[in-house]
Amino acid sequence: MRLLVVEDDKDLNRQLVAALEQAGYAVDRAFDGEEGWFLGDTEPYDAVVLDIGLPRKDGVRVLEEWRKAGRKMPVLLLTARDGWSDKVRGFDAGADDYVAKPFHMEEVLARLRALLRRAAGHATSDLTCGPITLDTRGGRVLVDGNPIKLTSHEYRLLAYLMHHLGRVVSRTELVEHLYDQDFDRDSNTIEVFVGRLRKKLGVDAIQTVRGLGYIIAPPGAEGDGTMVKSPS
Ligand code: CA
Repeated sequence: MRLLVVEDDKDLNRQLVAALEQAGYAVDRAFDGEEGWFLGDTEPYDAVVLDIGLPRKDGVRVLEEWRKAGRKMPVLLLTARDGWSDKVRGFDAGADDYVAKPFHMEEVLARLRALLRRAAGHATSDLTCGPITLDTRGGRVLVDGNPIKLTSHEYRLLAYLMHHLGRVVSRTELVEHLYDQDFDRDSNTIEVFVGRLRKKLGVDAIQTVRGLGYIIAPPGAEGDGTMVKSPS
C-alpha cells in the first residue's frame, strides 16, 4: 500500500512519514498544496493524509480538484481542533475522514487502516483467505494461525493482494503501489518477491495469471479456471 502525506509542518510531516513507514506502507511526501495536488493527480495512491492549512494551495481546494478530476483514493484530513467549518468544507469536498490536531499517531494509523480496508470492501481488520490471515492491525501474517516472518516488501506485496482479493493485479500495478517515488523501481523484482513469498507461506495461495499478473482467489471462487493458472 502506498500513501501520500501532504503536511507543511516539517516535523509533523517527518513524524507521519516515519510512523507510516514503520507500519509497513510505502510513503511519498509533499510540503505544500501545489506539490501535493500534483502527486495525488499523477500517482496512484491507496490513501492520502492531507493537511487543510497548506501554503500555495489550501487542502480543501486540493481535494476538490482531485475529486473533480475523478481521483477516488480515500483522503484523511488533518484539521485544526476547533475547525468545525473546515471539517464540513472537507467532507463536502470529498474527504473520507479527519483527525483533529493535535492527534495521537495511533489514531491516524487506525483510521487509515479502516479507510484502506473499506476502500477494498473489507469490514474487519483481519483479512482472511483460506489458511492465510493478514492482521492489518498488528502488521502480521499468519498461516493456519502461525505467524510468518516477512520483510516489509513481502508484507506490502501480500497486503496489497489480500486487500484486492479475487482480482488479478498486474506487475505494473504492484510496482506502483509497493514503492515510494524515490525507490529505484524494477518490475522484475516483483517476480522475485512473489517467489520468496510463496516459499514462506508454504501454501498455494498466490496464483500467476500468465501475461496479466497475480491473484489471490478466495476459496471456491476460482471458478474462472480458464484464466487462473497454478504457479509454474
Ligand atoms: Ca499546516
